[in-house]
Amino acid sequence: MPPVFRFAPSPNGYLHLGHALSALMNADLARAAGGRLLLRIEDIDTSRCRPEFEAGIQEDLAWLGLTWEQPVRRQSEHFDSYREALARLDAMGLIYPSFESRAEIARLAEQREQRRRDPDGAPLYHGEAKSMSLAERARRMAAGEPYALRLDTAAALAQAGALAWAETGAGPGGETGSIAADPAAWGDVILARKDTLGSYHLAVVVDDAAQGVTDVVRGQDLFHATSVHRLLQNLLGLAVPRYHHHRLVLDAEGRKLSKSTRATGLRELGAQGLTAADIRRAVGLD
Ligand code: GLU
Repeated sequence: MPPVFRFAPSPNGYLHLGHALSALMNADLARAAGGRLLLRIEDIDTSRCRPEFEAGIQEDLAWLGLTWEQPVRRQSEHFDSYREALARLDAMGLIYPSFESRAEIARLAEQREQRRRDPDGAPLYHGEAKSMSLAERARRMAAGEPYALRLDTAAALAQAGALAWAETGAGPGGETGSIAADPAAWGDVILARKDTLGSYHLAVVVDDAAQGVTDVVRGQDLFHATSVHRLLQNLLGLAVPRYHHHRLVLDAEGRKLSKSTRATGLRELGAQGLTAADIRRAVGLD
């Protein structure tokens, strides 16, 4: 069976040099391994994603010289799969709703001098809602309050035990080889919200398994998220891909590129006369 790679952008903006590095690395590694390349559109957050960005992404990837298999998987067409995965975790007693807003969580963390932050720098959720009575949960949900469905990470870890993944790239601290997963660093992660039946973490593991992905090649900014992905794969009984996290393309000030910085947008660079070969060189390939 040939290995299966995927490039999985979110259509909430156009592609920049950082995406070009990721897409080209996927294509290069797939070619070298005699593998397949898939494109997945990660548009689970339908409020921020737009069809014109998706069309632009496909145009820019074709301009870079990439080809990928059809059909393209769109997360917005697979909410049933995420709902089903969530229902399985719920049946295992591992999901609970919390009703606090992000600002409330930050305020509570401050008040309690709870300084632990997740790997992305957000205060860890204190887990208060875990002990709410079933009647209170039902009452607040029926009243239409917004909520987030969280994974009870401690309970999940008690079921899953120690987990690891095979890293052929490197984490931000140079971590490589067999990496011990540390999902507890993220606390009780959000797996869905009242208005979005799914989250990045849930959708990515469900999709990678559904598409038979064997090799995940993506930016180092997602290295630590892999800990959560390993836990979910274990709980849901999904196959585990190999992981290759690559360096990020930084701007002149050493910051991660953003979709709103036009200077590094592929469309802008193309309009200035740069070719796909120039882009390869600009991101340090060849
Ligand atoms: N959709 C994510 C992004 O655009 C990438 C997800 C992944 O490769 O796992 O950053």
